Amino acid sequence: MIPGPNYVYKCPNCGNYLIQESIISGNTLGAKVYSDGKRIAPMLPAFPDLTKCSKCNKILWLSKLKKVGEYSPDFDMPDVPEWQDAEQVKFLELKEYFEALEQRVFKKKSEELFIRKRIWWSYNDRIRNGEKIFKDRQDELLWKDNLNKLIKLLKVSDYRHKIMMAEIKRNLGEFESCVNILNGIDIEDVEWLKEKLLRECEKKNRWVVQLNE
Ligand SMILES: [Zn+2]
Repeated sequence: MIPGPNYVYKCPNCGNYLIQESIISGNTLGAKVYSDGKRIAPMLPAFPDLTKCSKCNKILWLSKLKKVGEYSPDFDMPDVPEWQDAEQVKFLELKEYFEALEQRVFKKKSEELFIRKRIWWSYNDRIRNGEKIFKDRQDELLWKDNLNKLIKLLKVSDYRHKIMMAEIKRNLGEFESCVNILNGIDIEDVEWLKEKLLRECEKKNRWVVQLNE
C-alpha cells in the first residue's frame, strides 16, 4: 500500500482544519466482502466523505469542500503552523448518520441513499463485530424504517440496486420477495452472488453474510 498526500480542509462553519489521509495504490489482499455490499480491505482502506467537525459538530461532505492544501504522509506534522492542530476526519457513527438525516445534509436522492446505506451498514457492523444487531425495540424500529426508505430510493433498472433490494428484503425476513427479486436478475457476472443469497433464503437466514471465505 502506497500512502498518498494528507489533504487539508477547513470547516466552513468554524474554521477548524480537517485532515484526510489518502492512498495512491493498494490491493484487495485479505479483503472481506459482505452481502450488504460493504468491503473491508486492510490494504485498501476507505476514507470518509461525510464527516463531522468535532469542534462545532457540523456534519459536512468533504467532497463539497475545497482543499486548502496538502502535505506529504512522510511527515507526522504539517509544516504550516495553522494545520498542526488539525483533526483527522472520522467516519460518522450510527447516531450521527441519523443526525445527518435530521439536519437534511443531503440535497439529492443519491446523497440520501448514501446516508441510508451507511445506516444499514452500521447496524450490520454490529453483527460483523459479533454483537447483537438491536439494542432495544426502538432501535429495531429505526432500523426497519430506514430500510423501508432505502428501498424506495433504489432503481429497479439498475441490477446492482436490485441485488441491494433483495438483500434488504432478506434482512427484513421477507424471503419470498427476496427470491422473486433475485430470480428477476439475469446477469451472468452475478450468478454466483444470486446463488449464495438464495441459499441463505433457503436456510431462512436473515442476516448479513460474508461472501468470500
Ligand atoms: Zn467546525
